[in-house]
Amino acid sequence: MKTEKLIHCPSCDSDKIKHILDIPDYYFSKQVFPIDECQNCGLRFTQSRPTADAIGEYYDSENYASHDSGKKSSLFLKAYQLARDYMLEQKFKLVRQFKPEWKQVLDYGTGEGFFTEFLQKKGKEAFGIEPSAVARSNFKNRTGNDLYPDISALPPGKSFQVITLWHVLEHIHSLRNTMEELVERLQSKGIVVIAVPNQKSTDVKTFGKEWAAWDVPRHLYHWDENSLEHFMKSLGLQRIYTTQLPLDPIYIGMISSKYQEKSPLEGVIKGIKSYFHGRNNPAEGSTLLTIWMKN
Ligand SMILES: [Zn+2]
Repeated sequence: MKTEKLIHCPSCDSDKIKHILDIPDYYFSKQVFPIDECQNCGLRFTQSRPTADAIGEYYDSENYASHDSGKKSSLFLKAYQLARDYMLEQKFKLVRQFKPEWKQVLDYGTGEGFFTEFLQKKGKEAFGIEPSAVARSNFKNRTGNDLYPDISALPPGKSFQVITLWHVLEHIHSLRNTMEELVERLQSKGIVVIAVPNQKSTDVKTFGKEWAAWDVPRHLYHWDENSLEHFMKSLGLQRIYTTQLPLDPIYIGMISSKYQEKSPLEGVIKGIKSYFHGRNNPAEGSTLLTIWMKN
């Protein structure tokens, strides 16, 4: 496995970084990865991480649900698909609330492209970017349309009113370059929607090292409200809204309980508690869902 050690913060480039904890990859490899914290902007990040070329090995499992093509028939995946359809509608309504007249939209890191497909069916001019060739091919077979492998493959000069990154920012190796390129493609007064696991959530206190959203080494960064604000402001974007994603705490609770070798029901109950806490305290919600505007 090829790994890389970061000597500067991937968000603010500071060299004041400090080792703070070690987290095992419960999901796949069982390897332990260090997590460092930037003493300038507060971002926590996975250290000695697999390179962009090598990280694919850590996704190589048929059970990584968010990358699944929907062929499984287990009860869990049926529930997952129902939840996914509910969330597509929720995501759509949220964006519409802030951009009622939106037309051009890019879903960056669209995976199997369910959100891109949903938007296209709603009559939006929706583009999806996804690095996985398998996911792009599944999308093509399902919808007849194409996804793009990266930003440079988009039509030249194409710009967007809305760019969404649903649980994607924590996976991007070339973090700053990618986000700068995306912001260039954003129209004036356009919005970026970002959902990331929140490492200041009550879930972290509840589950500790077994919190499923550490998800090392697939999650390269571990954001909270302040570190995300620091990064997005440096890209010239202003935050206009913060909330949580309603089903995430339950999903995360179930997986975290599995890592703790406890019952899924216990995870669901903890997830429901987390949901109600996050509803009143979005900065401590399981997932940070934030909306940012370009001037
Ligand atoms: Zn930093």
